[in-house]
Amino acid sequence: MNIKKTLSLLGVAVFMVACATNPFTGKKTMALVPNSQIFPMAFQQYDQFLAENKVITGTAQANKIKTIGQQIATASERWLNANGYAGYLKDYQWEYNLVDDPAVNAWCMPGGKIVFYTGILPIAQNDAGIAAVMGHEVAHALANHGQQRMSAAQYQGLVAVAGNVALSKDPEAQEDFNKYYGLGSTVGVMLPFSRSHESEADRIGLTLMAIAGYDPIEAANLWKRMQANAGGQAPPEFLSTHPSSQTRINNITSWAPEAKAEARKYGVTTFKKK
Ligand SMILES: [Zn+2]
Repeated sequence: MNIKKTLSLLGVAVFMVACATNPFTGKKTMALVPNSQIFPMAFQQYDQFLAENKVITGTAQANKIKTIGQQIATASERWLNANGYAGYLKDYQWEYNLVDDPAVNAWCMPGGKIVFYTGILPIAQNDAGIAAVMGHEVAHALANHGQQRMSAAQYQGLVAVAGNVALSKDPEAQEDFNKYYGLGSTVGVMLPFSRSHESEADRIGLTLMAIAGYDPIEAANLWKRMQANAGGQAPPEFLSTHPSSQTRINNITSWAPEAKAEARKYGVTTFKKK
């Protein structure tokens, strides 16, 4: 994958409303909207989510989520900087929280607001598995997949409300926002990303985890574990929005070497498998 090409127009597109070119595919997409309007809404919703849920702090697991989150954030920054997009993350306010909840799930809201549920940790199994989930979710946020999920009309309605700084008082707008951006508290109504968005997030995520020093092949192993878990009495919520398949695992396996090759450009020579 030619990173320069896939990232082309990234800096421009982010300031454009409505029809814009997706930097990761070169396709025209609707409703790629300014981060300056989306991020404040995301930050407000994230804070509200944290206030309403049990955030774990100070434990080894909670610290691990923060450490690996920072590693993926740093990898994103290095990757974007090296490809001519130094200012891309300037409005990001990275945050990584572990929430006490048996749901097998994790998500990243626009602007770098991440939540892992304790329920996903047994399937993530180790640092490399956490990095795979983290890389994938961060990739969705970097590629602005949330925005692309909304129609232009829906976006206008949401921004009109946000413009009045009344989002939190408007249940309908809040519900829309949660639905399109995948906020965990409303996972029941959360829309899945399209198959092409899932593929993009997989591919970008592999590069990010590799630059962070994790073996990207471990992402394939993660999806295998996720798939195996699907047969149990409580299928992972993560799978409702992230269908696992042999094709997905095959793609990840075939992309892993190029992710490693990319990481070597950043001086990464060893890749942790755990
Ligand atoms: Zn995904």
